[in-house]
Amino acid sequence: MLRRASLLLITIVLSVNHEAVAQNTTPNPAARWLSHIQYLASDELAGRETGSEGHRQAALYIAAAFKRAGLKPGGTQGYFQPVKFISRKIVEEQSNLTLIRNTGKEEPIILGEEATFGMGIEHAPHTDAPIVFVGYGLTVPEMNYDDLAGLDLRGKVVLLLSGGPSEIPGPLRAHYQNTRWGALKRAGVIGVISIQNPIGQDIPWERSKLARLRAALSLADPGLEENAGQQLAVTFNPAKAWRLFLDSGHSFAEIMKLAEAGKPLPRFPIPATVRASVRFEKQIVQSQNVAGILPGSDPVLKNEYVVLSAHLDHLGKGEPINGDPIYNGAMDNASGIATLLEAARTFSEKRLRFRRSVVFLAVTAEEHGLRGSKYYAAHPTVQASGIVANINIDMFLPLFPFRSFIVQGLEESNLAEDLQSVARNIGIEVLSDPEPERRAFVRSDQYSFIRQGVPAISLKIGFARDSPEHDIVKRWRRERYHAPSDDLQQPIDLEAAANFNRAYQQVVESVANRAQRPRWNSSSFFRRFARAESGTN
Ligand SMILES: [Zn+2]
Repeated sequence: MLRRASLLLITIVLSVNHEAVAQNTTPNPAARWLSHIQYLASDELAGRETGSEGHRQAALYIAAAFKRAGLKPGGTQGYFQPVKFISRKIVEEQSNLTLIRNTGKEEPIILGEEATFGMGIEHAPHTDAPIVFVGYGLTVPEMNYDDLAGLDLRGKVVLLLSGGPSEIPGPLRAHYQNTRWGALKRAGVIGVISIQNPIGQDIPWERSKLARLRAALSLADPGLEENAGQQLAVTFNPAKAWRLFLDSGHSFAEIMKLAEAGKPLPRFPIPATVRASVRFEKQIVQSQNVAGILPGSDPVLKNEYVVLSAHLDHLGKGEPINGDPIYNGAMDNASGIATLLEAARTFSEKRLRFRRSVVFLAVTAEEHGLRGSKYYAAHPTVQASGIVANINIDMFLPLFPFRSFIVQGLEESNLAEDLQSVARNIGIEVLSDPEPERRAFVRSDQYSFIRQGVPAISLKIGFARDSPEHDIVKRWRRERYHAPSDDLQQPIDLEAAANFNRAYQQVVESVANRAQRPRWNSSSFFRRFARAESGTN
């Protein structure tokens, strides 16, 4: 009841804010920033699930804001770039997973409690295969590291622990985890059972298991999907993983002890096979990216583009938590969209033009494996070779005062120089990722641009590891991240948000005006994706 009453109140506040925005009388930048979130994260938009009406309404709102700010349409249909997806939704009561011991004993695995099927792949209706534990299942040629070496994996399902040994640098580890299937497929593997590594896990299993009943989306363009040939995808609850290792001569506790020490893991056959039947419903879903362009002022550099991205989708409606089924996604990532819209509005109000062109890009389907940005990066609406940088914002979390930036990708390119100079000017610090184990560098839309060779960064409000602020962030993730409580009723530090937005705009200005296009550092692993660079600078 309380909840309903307060939602009503928000609706009223909202309509007032809309009016204020339209008349341009909203009092200050923080209030304007918040007003976007109040609309985008309202129950009316029902969590902006990719393909939903709420997402479409959010896209219309963003396009209208781009237009008000004088941005040129940057989509293929006005401000919109339609993106087509295949949606797969598990029919759990007609699906099952069984462990068959070498003794012949059959042990059903309880879906939800013990394991879930990953619906991002085209599951085979039936799988029946021996299991081999392959450690982290990683192949990292530049480190001469190969968890698959010497194993016969043809026709096998591999069991692995997500993560990687600490000898492999963070970004490299993250990238190869993300593209693991390539090497597994070449080795003849047909499916993967992945034990969720409790180290660096944001959401407890009790909550993450609820997401298994949601539809998963993959791009309808098969050329953009990298999991072709995978017949089985299972995620296993780490609290129940011990049973997979019975009679193998190893225990899960022993494996976890090695993982906690950052060490490589042993590899060995599991004396069991896995039998799976997977039934799912499949349909085509249409969604949209939204793009607006601020043309550059320099006759030559205007053909170069800085892409500012933020994802507009969130999780939609799902399993209720405390009676609330709407996953509003206020911080994730209505907040980042609001930052994008405020940047567009501020640049337009100040009549700022930059030497390079700037693409404001709100992408769909981030929550479905970065697939909206992946589509845009593969089919950009501007000359692909003209895209020189990507600056992404996803859930920057204004929960405490803004004293530093955390920058994903800080070590990888000379975009670090732009950040350092802005930070020096305003007296804040620039920090690298204090939690590399979370793989944040490949977990948001900047990664889609990195894979196309574009130097990219993602910005957040900073904190030091194990500081009181870190505790605030960890608590927020545990309680609100990907939960219905990431809504309009949570404490937000508006001053921190306003300061962050101002600093972000200065970073954009610096990158869009810099003399030379950004370059990967020679030490960066990601430099290999760069196209042969052409042009005069
Ligand atoms: Zn998210």
